[in-house]
This record gives sequence, structure tokens and C-alpha cells, in this order.
Amino acid sequence: MKAIDTLIGDQPEHWDLDGQIPRHLLSTLGAQGWLCAEVAATHGGRGLSSRANGELTAHVGSRCSSLRSVMTSQGMAAWTIQRLANRDQSAELLPQLVSGRLAAVGFSETDAGSDLSTMSTTITLDGDSVVLDGHKVWVTGAYYADLLVVFGQCDGGAAAVVVPASAPGVTVERVADPMGCRAAGHANLRFDSVRLPASSVLGSPGAPLPLLVTTALAYGRISVAWGCVGILRACRNTAARHAATRKQSGKPIGEHQLVGRHLAELFVAEQTASRACEHASDCWDAGSPDMVISTVLAKHVSAGHAATGAASAVQVMASAGARDGHVVARAYRDAKLMEIIEGSNEICQLILAQHAVSTAE
Ligand code: FAD
Repeated sequence: MKAIDTLIGDQPEHWDLDGQIPRHLLSTLGAQGWLCAEVAATHGGRGLSSRANGELTAHVGSRCSSLRSVMTSQGMAAWTIQRLANRDQSAELLPQLVSGRLAAVGFSETDAGSDLSTMSTTITLDGDSVVLDGHKVWVTGAYYADLLVVFGQCDGGAAAVVVPASAPGVTVERVADPMGCRAAGHANLRFDSVRLPASSVLGSPGAPLPLLVTTALAYGRISVAWGCVGILRACRNTAARHAATRKQSGKPIGEHQLVGRHLAELFVAEQTASRACEHASDCWDAGSPDMVISTVLAKHVSAGHAATGAASAVQVMASAGARDGHVVARAYRDAKLMEIIEGSNEICQLILAQHAVSTAE
């Protein structure tokens, strides 16, 4: 982590204000394997467990949610390739993702958000080629990406295809002024008759869309959940340090019980989110059947706590944290978006409700 901290330095505030992380820094982190650290050593990766990668993700998330978001996209691309690709595709693509090439994953469309079954992007098989037509919106990291993993309808089912961002017919347009994670390189993508070798389709075309999407989203969810743990750690530490030193009415503000309550709530939030994420990662590492549901639970708990925790931290900091770029101001904006992505609060609740019903004794 020290190596990463050295590279990050004191830049996150500036990245947030500039809306950009230097591309060479992302390539360096990528080439050191940090952006998708679970990729196996056989493919040149660091081969971290889910738990170890989770702690890494939380640490990066505590420093900069934009960088953590790019990490989530890269990890999600690697996980999708690992799960869907055949052996030759994995051997070709995974080493690229741990040697400096950047990737992003596109599911969402203008009319396909929470309900991805209405996705209109098509992947058409044509002899030795496939042709990609359609669009994607809000794809994290796509502004920086060399490779785009794109989901679309294909052959009576669905497929994921790997597209070079520089391929003829691909248009990448940056999302202007995102509310949070401002340097995460969100972009809208258009694909106009993009012709690719048939081998660009990961695995077999025509698989059920929910199966493909759930596979990729599972990684996105656990990564976002750990990122939220990082947001909470940064908020708790920053607010607690301030509350111990800032004096009003003759004593440190942390000794006023109403401020103390915010700190207690932040501590509870951080601990609760951490335990939920640790449990989910342990399920991943054990290959447990509870992996999917524990991940949805961790994402839901962590994102909700991060959004309320960041608001508490801003309250404790008051004017000392009330400017763009400040760690708690970034946390406040970034955390809210975590309640929307990779399955919004409501979608997570629907999944958890279904689980509650199906497992009732
Ligand atoms: P909608 O689906 O229109 O939902 C609007 C509201 O209605 C939400 O509150 C939602 O929870 C609620 N709602 C919808 N359906 C139901 C239902 N059945 N029951 C109850 N409530 C419901 N997409 C990608 O493909 N790749 C990315 O990398 C990516 N990164 C993103 C990063 C950010 C910061 C953001 C904001 C978005 C990103 N997205 C990405 C898109 C994201 O996945 C969608 O925004 C998300 O799925 C929600 O879709 P929507 O915005 O269209 O909202």
C-alpha cells in the first residue's frame, strides 16, 4: 500500500477539482497489477484473495473514490473475462490488464438502467466477424480505457464483446460535470457498425443476459462495497481528529454530546460496513453459495452507511470541510452515487427481499 500511497501523494483533491487523474499514473498502477489485483499470477497478476483485494480497495477508496472507481471498472473487466472467456481469450486479454492497458465495462443505456433486459445494443454474428451497434451511458473509466467490455443482445440471448476503444465506429464522449467521483472518467459510448473478429465475443454467444450481467455486477458490487468502507474510514478519521482539536464553548466539540453522537454513528457505520464486506469476501474466497447474496448485502449496507456517514462527517467539520475537494466534501458527493450504481438501493432491497422470502423457514 505504501507504493500506492507514494504514487497518489496529496493529489486526490486536485484530481477532483480538475476532473481528471493523470493517464500515466493509471497506466503505472495498472502495470504494477494494482488496478485488478485478483488476476492470477499465471496471467502476470498479483493473485490477491478477495479479502486482501478488498482491504486494498478500501485503502484506495479512503484516499480517492475516483481512483477506486477506475479500479472497480478494471477489476470488473478482468473478472468478466476470467468468468466468460475461453482459455485462449483469457491468455490474451488478462496479461494486458495487468501491464498498463485500461478497461471499462458497459451495460447501461439511455432506456436500460435498473432493468437491463431492455438493452438495445446488438452484437451480430457475421461469418468470421461480429458487428456491434448501439450505445452505452455513464461507463466509469471509459474516458481512459483502451478496451471496452460491452454487453449486448446476441443470437437469441446475449453476449459480452471486447472492443478496442480506438476501433473504427467507436465514439467516446465524456459525461460532463458528474456530481461525484469527478475524476473517474465516466463516458457515454456509441458503436456504429463496429466490425470485430468473431473471437472478440467472450466465450459462447447467446447466453442468458441475466446470467452474464450478474456475473460482472457481482465483482462491481463487492468492489464498490469495499470502496464505501474506505469512504467511512476517511470520514471517521477526519471528523474525529477535528472534533478532538476544534474548541467551541470552552471545550473540544467532540465533548459536546450531540457531536459525540455523530462520531459514534460514524464508528458504527464503519464497523458494520467492514464486517459485511469481510463476510462477503470470505464467501468469495471460500467459493460459498452465499457469495452473491452476501455481496448484495455488503453493497447495500456499505453504500447506505457511506452516504449517511459522509453527511455526518460534513456536519462535524462544518465550515472546515465545506469546500470542494476537501476529503469530507468529496466523500459526501461520491458516497451518494454509490447508492445508485451496481444495483441501486431499491434494486438491492428487491434482491434481499426475494432472498428473505425464498429462505424463510
Ligand atoms: P433508473 O433505472 O431509471 O432508476 C431511477 C430510480 O428508480 C432509482 O432510484 C431506482 O432504484 C428506482 N427503480 C428503478 N426500477 C425499480 C424497481 N423495479 N423497483 C424499485 N425501484 C426502482 N453503467 C455501466 O454500464 N457501467 C458503468 O461503469 C457505470 N458507472 C456508473 C457510475 C456512476 C457514477 C453512475 C451515476 C452510473 C453508472 N452507470 C454505469 C449507470 C448505472 O448502472 C445506472 O445509473 C443504474 O443502473 C441506475 O439506472 P438509471 O440511472 O437509469 O436509473
